[in-house]
Amino acid sequence: MSYIEETLQHVREQSGTETEFLQSVEETLRSLKPVIDEHPKYRRYAVLERLTEPDRMIMFRVGWVDEQGVYHVNRGYRVQFNNAIGPYKGGLRFHPSVNLGIVKFLAFEQVFKNALTTLPMGGAKGGSDFDPKGRSDEEVMSFCQSFMTEFARYIGPDMDVPAGDIGVGKREVGYLFGQYKKITSQFNGVITGKDPNWGGSLMRPQATGYGTVYFAEEMLGTKGESLGGKRCIVSGSGNVAQYTVEKLTMLGAKVLTLSDSGGTIYDKDGIDREKLAFVMDLKNNRRGRISEYVEKYPSAEYLDGANPWSIPCECAFPSATQNELELEDAKALVKNGCSLVSEGANMPCTAEAVGLFLENKLMYGPGKAANAGGVATSGLEMAQNAQHLSWPREEVKGRLRSIMKDIHTLVSETAAQYGRPHDYVMGANIAGFVKVADAMIDQGIV
Ligand code: NDP
Repeated sequence: MSYIEETLQHVREQSGTETEFLQSVEETLRSLKPVIDEHPKYRRYAVLERLTEPDRMIMFRVGWVDEQGVYHVNRGYRVQFNNAIGPYKGGLRFHPSVNLGIVKFLAFEQVFKNALTTLPMGGAKGGSDFDPKGRSDEEVMSFCQSFMTEFARYIGPDMDVPAGDIGVGKREVGYLFGQYKKITSQFNGVITGKDPNWGGSLMRPQATGYGTVYFAEEMLGTKGESLGGKRCIVSGSGNVAQYTVEKLTMLGAKVLTLSDSGGTIYDKDGIDREKLAFVMDLKNNRRGRISEYVEKYPSAEYLDGANPWSIPCECAFPSATQNELELEDAKALVKNGCSLVSEGANMPCTAEAVGLFLENKLMYGPGKAANAGGVATSGLEMAQNAQHLSWPREEVKGRLRSIMKDIHTLVSETAAQYGRPHDYVMGANIAGFVKVADAMIDQGIV
């Protein structure tokens, strides 16, 4: 049995019930075959076994009381996966679906993604099965304070630097940071995604969505094409989706859809700046549902319970959650002539969907590469915090643009080097792997 298959069998035996983690490890390891075959040192130093076993997994109880006086207990998680190239770094997700397998898959992906950014960051992820939906600001604050009371002992600006993810935005980051400061008396760069007024980086809110669009632009550039005039569909309506739409419209594309877990809105006239401003207010301030879009803009349609993938388009940007785009959805995209998929979300496409994209030679940018602009800008926030400086917007924007270009170049060149030009999956996995694996070998078995 090959080294990769042996490792996969071991991971299956140990973590067989963690389906998303298994999915992510299988997808990643299988694409490493050429580099593993070429370099026996990775087997000699047991790199795959070490790379698939987190440094540590922390789970803790989070108790809090709601406004009716009802007591609640949620579970907090942090998986510190690998810190071979820098302090642990990765977001926190608050969503009822959060479990250990999901946090492990996100942390595993983060190791490779962070390695691609060119910045010194290891990989981690965390969160809780707490559901912020329908909770008041005070209830969310109370939960965040309780979460941080335990979490504070495991993090620090040179140890582990969390950030936001699904359900954790500016509001939650503020409450988490406030409690960290209260407990430790330290004002430092322990968390990213802070408001620029108190230590955050300009452009961080925009970074993931903009970066995903920049990555798409780079992919199109290899064929002499651009986004101008292209019909695009976007899923989700949170942070990543909103700024994906903003950048796409700035570049002259026409965005037809947005969604949430209730359904999809289809606006055949395109979601322009004014409509996007409405969505941002609806989602970020009023915490409403995307279905309210059609009340404001009646020429749009609401597709109850549906996802956007059956709407004809040239480019698709899955930006909601894992496994939101399955084989049947991929078939619909291919049939309708879609030629590009750039992932804003983490692992939004199932393995079968990705297989179909590659078979049909779509330009497919996996999340590890395409959505790395968010964590890259978090890395820039860490650099600014360490310097006690705030960089001007144009500086951060310029760095983000060039990081996305560099990621695209690295991933493409790596894919070509291993005989699979335009296979961004293989390129991203091998490039991220080599950086982390070689650092692990240099530092000995620990
Ligand atoms: P938000 O919480 O801001 O938005 C999430 C969006 O996805 C909401 O519209 C939400 O709808 C929808 N969604 C969440 N879960 C589901 C589900 N199970 N089914 C259908 N829709 C769902 O999160 P972000 O925009 O920050 O994150 C979106 C994705 O991008 C995630 O995969 C995240 O890991 C990834 N990502 C985020 C980065 C960042 O900087 N924020 C960086 C890199 C990746 P509803 O309101 O109905 O739940």
